[in-house]
Amino acid sequence: MVLDLQFILYGLIIIATLVPLYIYREKVFKRFYKTGNIKTFLRDVDAYLTLHHPKIPFDFSIASKFENEKDIRIKETLIVEGLIKQFSNYEYELKTQRGIDKDRIWSGYEGNSKLLKDNKLPIDWAQRKEAAWMRDNNKCNRCGTKTKLLDTHVLLAKQMRNGGGFNLENIVVLCSDCSRIVKSANIERTSRDLHILDNLMRKVTN
Ligand SMILES: [Zn+2]
Repeated sequence: MVLDLQFILYGLIIIATLVPLYIYREKVFKRFYKTGNIKTFLRDVDAYLTLHHPKIPFDFSIASKFENEKDIRIKETLIVEGLIKQFSNYEYELKTQRGIDKDRIWSGYEGNSKLLKDNKLPIDWAQRKEAAWMRDNNKCNRCGTKTKLLDTHVLLAKQMRNGGGFNLENIVVLCSDCSRIVKSANIERTSRDLHILDNLMRKVTN
């Protein structure tokens, strides 16, 4: 009987301590999580993606999935992760491109367009890369971002083993992120190490 009373007493003490904690939990936890206005972040990210990756149709409705997330930093990070997933999983196929005007073709072009025996790049490879980059207005064929010639990656639409050559129609211009995604054997892993991820994470509240 005495034990029972003690048990009830301890029980009451525990409840008495927990009730205020329950009532003030919002105040207590507010010290740990950050709040803020998600709209500004979404507007900023949307403007950035429209300007830099205009060819990828990003779907911002994913933001509603994280509506109940209280910490703005976590909420924004989850949204960024969702958008990166969309960027990486965007379906894209390497296709033959436009050629360039005949009067802009240099001597030796035709001969060097053919596949060399030991899979070596042709002697005028840098010139071909630049011509393809200029043909595409310095933009990535997959996402539409502007690239500097130095950062530009090029892939062959039709692989050499399938008879593809170095003619300009077969050269596709890509940014480094898209090139890595197209060549990736593990898109999820590649996604964790993209420039676009760094650029979006810089917009997350800290
Ligand atoms: Zn790209």
